[in-house]
Amino acid sequence: MKDIEAARQRMIDRQIIARGIRDNRVLEAIREVPRHLFVDESLLDEAYDDNPLPIGEGQTISQPYMAALMTHLLELGEDQQVLEIGTGSGYQAAILARLCRWVYTIERIKVLSEKAHDLLERIGYANVTFIVGDGSAGWPSHAPYDGIIVTAGAPKVPEILVDQLRMGGRLVIPVGDRFSQTLKRVIRTRTGIKLENYTGCRFVDLIGKHGWTAL
Ligand code: SAM
Repeated sequence: MKDIEAARQRMIDRQIIARGIRDNRVLEAIREVPRHLFVDESLLDEAYDDNPLPIGEGQTISQPYMAALMTHLLELGEDQQVLEIGTGSGYQAAILARLCRWVYTIERIKVLSEKAHDLLERIGYANVTFIVGDGSAGWPSHAPYDGIIVTAGAPKVPEILVDQLRMGGRLVIPVGDRFSQTLKRVIRTRTGIKLENYTGCRFVDLIGKHGWTAL
């Protein structure tokens, strides 16, 4: 257990703080989420490495730095609610659950959603609602959200997601082609939107009505 905690601290120091993320709330949330439980036992030794890892069904758990950066860009307050599109392993949802009041997380692949749901329940996260479906259209029935995070690559920013942000709300989304994207943050303002570009990245496809067609 000590080794695992040391590996997690090294990950935070060398991959996250070293790349400029100093947001204490985010760092603390990451320190408290046992990333190794979100990967297959056979990948235990790699759980804290500086890269994404396979989680089955052709999908991945994101690189730790990418999860940290996206979380930081959401700027979530304790009383806020967030929508995550792409539950995957549930790792990102667990980080978000430590930072805000409620997390809604959508996954299109039922077995991944069920596995993530079971794990989060087992390790004690009670403020997450799991939904199976096409998250590219968001989840209007719980809108407006303070933040929306899309953990899959989209061909463009779906306007329908911006419409589900409250005024001042943040959408964090990788946008580009199927091989490489730019991480973008869209802030909803009274006059429209503010669009910011961050780092280059590579995510699995956002598949759905406002994303890509399945191959
Ligand atoms: N956030 C995840 C984690 O912490 O493990 C990593 C997500 S993985 C990079 C992207 C996920 O998005 C995949 O599990 C994929 O099935 C899902 N996905 C792709 N298109 C989707 C859509 N339209 N709606 C919901 N989930 C989608």
